Amino acid sequence: MSGDSHDLVVIGGGPGGYVAAIRAAQLGMRTACVEARETLGGTCLNVGCIPSKALLHSSELFAEARHSLAGHGVVTGAVELDLKAMMARKNKVVEDLTKGVEFLFRKNEVEFVRGFGRIAAPGRVEVESAGGAARTLNAGRIIIATGSEAAPLAGVDVDVDEERIVSSTGALALDSVPRRMVVIGAGYIGLELGSVWRRLGAEVTVVEFLDRITPGMDGETSKNLRRILARQGLSFRLGSRVVAARKVRGGVALDVEPAAGGEGETIEADVVLISVGRRPNTGGLGLDDAGVERDERGFVKVDARFGTSVDGIHAIGDAVPGPMLAHKAEEDGVACVETMAGGSGHVDYGLVPGVVYTWPEAASVGRSEEALKEEGVDYVSGKFPFTANSRARTTGDTDGMVKILADRKTDRVLGVHILGADAGTLIHEAATAMVYGASSEDVARTCHAHPTLAEAVKEAALAAHGRAIHT
Ligand code: FAD
Repeated sequence: MSGDSHDLVVIGGGPGGYVAAIRAAQLGMRTACVEARETLGGTCLNVGCIPSKALLHSSELFAEARHSLAGHGVVTGAVELDLKAMMARKNKVVEDLTKGVEFLFRKNEVEFVRGFGRIAAPGRVEVESAGGAARTLNAGRIIIATGSEAAPLAGVDVDVDEERIVSSTGALALDSVPRRMVVIGAGYIGLELGSVWRRLGAEVTVVEFLDRITPGMDGETSKNLRRILARQGLSFRLGSRVVAARKVRGGVALDVEPAAGGEGETIEADVVLISVGRRPNTGGLGLDDAGVERDERGFVKVDARFGTSVDGIHAIGDAVPGPMLAHKAEEDGVACVETMAGGSGHVDYGLVPGVVYTWPEAASVGRSEEALKEEGVDYVSGKFPFTANSRARTTGDTDGMVKILADRKTDRVLGVHILGADAGTLIHEAATAMVYGASSEDVARTCHAHPTLAEAVKEAALAAHGRAIHT
């Protein structure tokens, strides 16, 4: 065992941990990042954001070639799927990006320590590598950036074998297209992966306990998204609870009951994806012995500077409360180490954009109409449909709309919800405007290039005051 001295040891090399480590090194800290996986990048790069977006894009091209190109006058021969090649491309994208993070570590002189990290005491991290070798890192400060893992299906005994009953990780690596797939949970991960396999030919049924999809999303946007996804062939069993899952010949039988009670039914599928949320990955780290407090859901409790209940131990990303998103984890990491270095850092969780990468995409920032109503805020709403946007007409992507919610008295923008092509890119105009405390009139008076999808954002801002031009 060897001793090793660092200013900062980060446990976990996901978007929170690796970004924190790089920024800390830029600020002059001697930094090490401990990661249990072979590769850096965490859930996001290895089995989350990146492989899912690679498959979403490839499957979208496949569906477009099959169903839409002819409408543009592009005549193809028979369109066939080479799933092996699609998966190989996805793997290559992941490999290149995870290697890219290793390169950034070398460039910034962050030491990458492969192995499982455990806090032996404040200021001391013990690392056990896959081969069993142990190493002790002494650290002025420690950041817990251990992320999250898929939550199990509560109250149901299921064997997730990653073949017939899969988590998102298995759903990103199936070696054939299932004929019937059931997705349990209508959050963004279930809808994105359900969309991938639907486009590739599976019959997809989404079972959701609540009576709506995408909980937390603005209700109107969520309803419109469900309607569009249903048109694409996803079928929804809302207000339904899976009470048992049995492996049967060639598949899985699920007993499903109405959430409100009543007679149940059995649904059979070749593959079942369990996507009922994620939970913090904070076990085995020695937190209780070190005195690091967690809340009742297992998230590490932190203050505004990401400090835990123990001096010198900080926590960020999916391991702490807040939106469980990669960009939020990155912001946490930067704010945490900049504060350590004597600067100031703050992340406004109320302005973290959220994107569902289905087609069309659904993106939002700020508060939903339901949240504003609940808080008793007096607001105005401006909407503009993409059917009235000339660029959307040229591409044929006319589904969806932009909705801007602004305070009736001050006109400050409080929430923006976009359902439509490239909503995930368009939302950043709204996020920037909101960070600067813009009014809807500020957005409406900003000159937007023509013809662009972004003009729908301007028109929605105009509509908040009954001044839209093109509807
Ligand atoms: P993680 O990325 O989970 O990284 C934590 C790392 O710590 C892991 O690599 C783990 O191996 C390591 N680790 C854990 N314990 C130890 C230990 N004791 N010692 C050493 N290493 C340890 N978010 C988005 O913003 N956009 C998306 O499009 C998106 N798509 C997603 C799709 C899927 C299918 C999934 C599952 C997630 C998706 N997410 C997305 C969520 C995103 O992946 C997470 O929010 C993000 O990865 C959190 O970053 P993190 O650094 O906190 O943790």
